[in-house]
Amino acid sequence: MASFRIGHGYDIHRTAAGRPLVLGGVKFDADFGLYGHSDADALTHAICDALLGAAGLPDIGHFFPDTDAAYRDIDSQLLLQRVIAALRERGWAPVNIDATLVAEKPRIAPRLAEMKAVLARSTGLAADAIGLKATTNEGADDIGRGLAIAAHAVVLIQKA
Ligand SMILES: [Zn+2]
Repeated sequence: MASFRIGHGYDIHRTAAGRPLVLGGVKFDADFGLYGHSDADALTHAICDALLGAAGLPDIGHFFPDTDAAYRDIDSQLLLQRVIAALRERGWAPVNIDATLVAEKPRIAPRLAEMKAVLARSTGLAADAIGLKATTNEGADDIGRGLAIAAHAVVLIQKA
C-alpha cells in the first residue's frame, strides 16, 4: 500500500531595486526584483520547503546555506531539482503541489501557465498536478505596500 505525506512551505523575500524578479522560474519584466542570496524565487523556495517538510527533512537553508558562495544567484529550479532528487533517494515522489503567491505587483496571472510548465519540468509532475494562484494583500502590511513578496505551498508526496 502506498504511503502518503503532506508538507507545507512558506517563504518571503523583500523587494529590491536592481535585482531580477523570478517567480516559479519565470523572469518578470518589472522595475524591481527580490533581495536574496539565490535568485530569490520565493515561490520555488516555498515549494522546496513543502517537499522537504513532507519527507521529514530540514529546510532549504540547511541544504543550500546562504553562506555558501556556490548558491549565489543560483537558479532556484536547480535547487528544486535537487530537492526532488533528495526525496527520490528516500523513495518519495511528489503527487501534487498547490501554491499561492502573495504579491501586490506585478500582475502574476498572465504568467501562471508558464510558471506551471517550468515547475512541471523541474519536478517531473504533469502541469495539471500543479495548482498556482496569485493574490494581493489588498494594500495591507509590507506585502500590500510592495515591500515584499511571499508564497505559501502545500504538497503531497507518495512512497510506492
Ligand atoms: Zn527564499
